[in-house]
Amino acid sequence: MCQVAIYPGTFDPVTYGHIDIIKRAQEIFSDLIVAVAHNPHKKPLFSLKERVGMIKKATNGLKGIEIVEFDGLVVEYARKRKAKVLIRGLRMLSDFEYEFQMALTNRKLASDIETIFLMPHESYSYLSSKLLKEAASLGADLSSFVPDFVEKALKNKLRP
Ligand code: ADP
Repeated sequence: MCQVAIYPGTFDPVTYGHIDIIKRAQEIFSDLIVAVAHNPHKKPLFSLKERVGMIKKATNGLKGIEIVEFDGLVVEYARKRKAKVLIRGLRMLSDFEYEFQMALTNRKLASDIETIFLMPHESYSYLSSKLLKEAASLGADLSSFVPDFVEKALKNKLRP
């Protein structure tokens, strides 16, 4: 039985939706590696270091979790770390097509690695980092979506 799982993503920035998935995965796997992708083509608002730092702070106190940065193919990183499972979050039907394509592509690249999907609590099922950035730029109250230090960081970037 594989005990190591990787939860890869951009996390730009981390939200309560991501944290919900991290907590669920942490209940199932003894070692969970949250792998923050460099992803320069997505033009993240926050630097890699900032994204890693925010997840570390948001998951402080949770056991069996490692937060790392990575670049390149996630399946190669998974092999390097001897992980056989990739965790992804599924919110709405709208996530399905992209996630399905990605899971099957990863399976083609590495048939020994499985993608497992977890659903967040329904109150986070519409939450996305992209929408949060839009809402932050308009000055919305984000306290039910992200920890307060993430809200401050978003507003510092988008409404200095
Ligand atoms: P990526 O660029 O890899 O899609 P994201 O940070 O946007 O990075 O998402 C990482 C993973 O977390 C994806 O599987 C995404 O579906 C999932 N995710 C994002 N927001 C939520 C949420 N609110 N609830 C559950 N899963 C989520």
